[in-house]
Amino acid sequence: MPPSTSIPVTAQTFGSGSSGNALLIRAGDTVLLVDCGVGIRTLRGGLANHGLVLADIDAILVTHEHSDHIRTLPSLYRDDLPLIATGGTARAARLPRDTTEKVSVRTPVSVAGATVHALPVRHDASDPCGFHIEIAGARITVLTDLGTWQDHLADAVAASDLVLLEANYNDTMLRQGPYPAYLKRRVASNVGHLGNDACGLAIAPVARRTAEITWWLSHLSQTNNSPRQAEHDVREILHGADVDASITALPRRSAGPVWSFDPAVRPPRSFAPVATDDPGAQLGLPGFD
Ligand SMILES: [Zn+2]
Ligand SMILES: [Zn+2]
Repeated sequence: MPPSTSIPVTAQTFGSGSSGNALLIRAGDTVLLVDCGVGIRTLRGGLANHGLVLADIDAILVTHEHSDHIRTLPSLYRDDLPLIATGGTARAARLPRDTTEKVSVRTPVSVAGATVHALPVRHDASDPCGFHIEIAGARITVLTDLGTWQDHLADAVAASDLVLLEANYNDTMLRQGPYPAYLKRRVASNVGHLGNDACGLAIAPVARRTAEITWWLSHLSQTNNSPRQAEHDVREILHGADVDASITALPRRSAGPVWSFDPAVRPPRSFAPVATDDPGAQLGLPGFD
């Protein structure tokens, strides 16, 4: 077998949840960030563990305008730093026009050698999306802050090597927990967040198609969930469906595990984006994380 000439791809979160989100994706010299809602010191420290500094970031992908996803963005603006977002998110987050590239489900964006597809989701933001990112032969899908699972997401997820999927709450903990009734309704609504059971039900049919995906349960609620609970709930559903999958719940406030991937070990699977007429939620509701 010829020696591998592929570039290893690594990924790590520096926070996942309503206190702040940021995902580092690195392939050789290419450094991408998905969302930037963690503090600047956390971001600097996380990058330093990879031998990187802020100036090494080649592009930032922004899922939506809620503060836990964009809080630190203004500190990072540079004339040569592309920001990738949907048009609605760009407006709502007031991203600088001259460095923002619009992405939509019909119009993927190429940036720093990566191809970025937008995946529309339902959430109470202006034009929220997840991302499917192809980089150096690896495929990574990021889906947090979605009130409901939609079948159009399955193909992107199934074509991925790493998937970040929201597991925000345990149904009983949310129902019996301290949130006021209106907030419980919003979290559980179809423009709120994906609960553990819904997450498990989304994973099961995809994991049946392919066992090669690494699943990171993301954006866990501090009040209505725990890493152990999320993993338990999802595993119970997978067990009931008689499928196995590699799942890990991400820590909310600290760095998560490092994912390392060598694309040479298997040929990349293909993903053909399917345009959907569902624009996601455009309800103009006041944002919540
Ligand atoms: Zn959020
Ligand atoms: Zn949100």
